[in-house]
Amino acid sequence: MTENNVEKLVELNFKKIGIDRIGKIEDYFFSIEDKQDSENELIVSFNFAPNNNKSKLFEFFDKLEESKQISEYNIDKNLVRVVYIEDEKETVDIFLNGIVNKFREIDGKCICSNCDNTENLSFYSNGNVYSLLCESCGTNVIDQFEKDKLAKNNYIKGLLASLIGALIGSAIWIIIGALGFFASIAGLAISYCAFKGYGIAKGKLTRKGIILNVIAIVIAFLFAQYAVLFIQFMKEFENMDLFGFIILTPVIFSDLEFVKSLLPDIGLGILFAFLGTYRTIINNYKSAKNSENIKVEKIEL
Ligand SMILES: [Zn+2]
Repeated sequence: MTENNVEKLVELNFKKIGIDRIGKIEDYFFSIEDKQDSENELIVSFNFAPNNNKSKLFEFFDKLEESKQISEYNIDKNLVRVVYIEDEKETVDIFLNGIVNKFREIDGKCICSNCDNTENLSFYSNGNVYSLLCESCGTNVIDQFEKDKLAKNNYIKGLLASLIGALIGSAIWIIIGALGFFASIAGLAISYCAFKGYGIAKGKLTRKGIILNVIAIVIAFLFAQYAVLFIQFMKEFENMDLFGFIILTPVIFSDLEFVKSLLPDIGLGILFAFLGTYRTIINNYKSAKNSENIKVEKIEL
């Protein structure tokens, strides 16, 4: 978008949402974005209500297309998108006013993108997403969003699901560990499955939720290490079974020398678990932090 056009839109009180600019002239609402594959074209979109004289609007656009003021336009249900070619002399405000004049001439109206209401329209945004809604649809969306946000998060169910996921993921760790290797990819499997399980149980990705996932990952990691140890004991002692190993556990772990001998393995295991999981955890933490700050709001123009 040329600087000149940016200035004109600021003068018209257009607001920037993400990479788009949205605003209104009289009662007509427009959104404007740069055309991705083009240097000097803008996509101007608006929701246009069904109208008996719609063909007159399209005749108007056909003429603009012939005179190379626009390169194309298309209609998808009520959404009209016009590709405007930027021009030194005819700035975007003049172009928009031309459309508004045509709207007035044919008694055109903008329309809610959720119902067929054409009155009391406003843009509503949720982070970088926005839509044109009537007052009742807008209020509904805000209420629903607030309700979802306030809905009690079932952390216990989330933790259990995350734990089940992490334990499934730990199977890979156990297999690799039983072969005598550590691999960060196995740590990644644990954290991926933990978050997957948490998501399936519809756990909300709040910061508390992330901590629960980390707890599940640590438990699964300890379980996997314990299982690997059991497998090693089975290899070493012919008559060892799971029950015997569990009975033996306190004895094994009270032997300081033995615990010391485990430390290098545990250290390596934690290192690889960390390498495998920290990116997943950080990414989820970031998106949790963002979604906590996001809200649906009406954009005053
Ligand atoms: Zn509506």
